[in-house]
Amino acid sequence: MLTKLLLLPCLLGPVFADQAPLRIPSWKEGKDLNAALSCVQSISGLQFTTPGDPEYTTKAAPFNLRMSPRPSLIVSPISVAQISETVQCAYTNGGTVSAKSGGHSYAAYGLSADIVIEMAGLNNITVDNADQTALVQTGNRLGNVAKALYEHGQRALPHGSCPYVGSGGHTLYGGFGYYSRIGGLMADVVISAEVVLADGRVVNASATNSYSDLFYAIRGGGPSFGVVTTWKFQTLEAATTTVSYFITFRRSLSAEAAANAYLIWQRICGPFPEPSDNLATAVVFSPAEEEGTVHMRFQGNWYGPEEDAYAWLDPFMHNLQAVGLNPILNATAHNWIDGLRAFAGNGDSLDTSEPDIPDNFFTKSLITMNASPAWLIRNWVNYMATEGVRSNTDWFAQVDLYGGKIGRLSQDTNAFAYRDAFLVYQLYASKPKASSFFPPDGIPFVNGMLAALEPNPAGAYPNYIDPTLGTSNKTGISEWQRLYYRNEANINKLQDTKAKYDAMDVFKNPQGF
Ligand SMILES: Cc1cc2nc3c(=O)[nH]c(=O)nc-3n(C[C@H](O)[C@H](O)[C@H](O)COP(=O)(O)OP(=O)(O)OC[C@H]3O[C@@H](n4cnc5c(N)ncnc54)[C@H](O)[C@@H]3O)c2cc1C
Repeated sequence: MLTKLLLLPCLLGPVFADQAPLRIPSWKEGKDLNAALSCVQSISGLQFTTPGDPEYTTKAAPFNLRMSPRPSLIVSPISVAQISETVQCAYTNGGTVSAKSGGHSYAAYGLSADIVIEMAGLNNITVDNADQTALVQTGNRLGNVAKALYEHGQRALPHGSCPYVGSGGHTLYGGFGYYSRIGGLMADVVISAEVVLADGRVVNASATNSYSDLFYAIRGGGPSFGVVTTWKFQTLEAATTTVSYFITFRRSLSAEAAANAYLIWQRICGPFPEPSDNLATAVVFSPAEEEGTVHMRFQGNWYGPEEDAYAWLDPFMHNLQAVGLNPILNATAHNWIDGLRAFAGNGDSLDTSEPDIPDNFFTKSLITMNASPAWLIRNWVNYMATEGVRSNTDWFAQVDLYGGKIGRLSQDTNAFAYRDAFLVYQLYASKPKASSFFPPDGIPFVNGMLAALEPNPAGAYPNYIDPTLGTSNKTGISEWQRLYYRNEANINKLQDTKAKYDAMDVFKNPQGF
């Protein structure tokens, strides 16, 4: 049965897969941004906002207030045809284009180009329960997607927990969530995608058609290759029971106790033997008041019967108690959607009709393929228990267990480079609530947190985009390319795909191919 969820007319434009490319423009030599802007402003029925308009400040506001993007024009299309025409204007006259889906890029890269295409007007979701697929336009955020899929046949996708994150950026860079050890990354469940290319052509890319190189690149390789208007996902069955758990401690732990607890958790996580795919688990550290201590909690979901959840939780609790800790377990068994709400961080709601509350922050990430040695973890936890208490930031460090289905897919599935990821660290510092500014020691503090974890085989997760990674490519490969995309074969493939589909760099991005 084909279920049309939203009553909006289907706004998908025509697919011009066989149309010849438009003429090659000359703007590399003589770029005329003003001509591009006038061209866009004359597109029939297209709403646009310029820096002089009263709503510009709101529309150009990033989620991360540490950034201050100033696009020349923001357009709000309601059809793929309007997106195609917008991109053609830039292609023919000059200017760069970026799409903004949920707007949650840590570096505000959705707002980084001359012309920003706000995807919010393309918000259809069509669920097909017969072949267990869903067409999701990229104006949708994860909260809408999750609700729509569950309400129509109790289907699900393996995405992140924040309902406001956009289906566009999240999927383009990978997309990890608590269901990923069962279902893979969000990018792994894409079957095909409708993409507006740099010259305005609208194509459908899949693994089996002539756009298979493009299809590879847009699943993990980011936004450099085109504007994705619709993802076609293979949906998963939503787990019947989700057991959400939090293991906390009454007060902050000494650095030694916290490191011991972490090492117990790390040992249970593997990588060998690996725990059941039904387990989603993370550790979160946050600042304590007392020097030499740190707050710590474990959290996650077990997908399946409660007794199976306790078969994992009870021995873990016992191991923590055995080293003198007093962990407090809070576990709740609920249905799929309540399991998502438990980690939505939005008053337990998946609803995104109200604007999200922005933050002002800096983040680094680290992907490790192996368990870290005890001395390294002690070093790291010590840093958090000393510098973390002195820091002027509100910070957290979260470590997620990867593996499961993510690791069983072959490395050439798509551009996500870390199939063998074991743990992924996110080190995140925000401005304190009482202050208006991100403190000057914020970035050095986060850098120090990462440095305390090294040496380590280092990779970084592109969805936690880090604008401080080097862009110089004197050696042929820049720092961000190496950390996000890992090896020459993957990087070369993405560079070749960029050259083939966007030689003029219409989709220019500070960390883009
Ligand atoms: C509160 C919060 C929680 C998060 N939780 C998780 C998590 O649990 N798991 C996880 O993996 N990540 C998580 N992230 C990171 C998140 O996945 C990335 O920031 C993601 O890239 C944001 O996507 P977006 O569409 O909201 O952002 P945007 O800023 O709109 O887009 C990000 C990038 O993708 C490009 N882009 C967006 N849409 C399109 C499109 N349709 N076509 C072409 N290019 C496009 C933009 O130009 C930009 O460069 C979280 C982020 C935040 C802020």
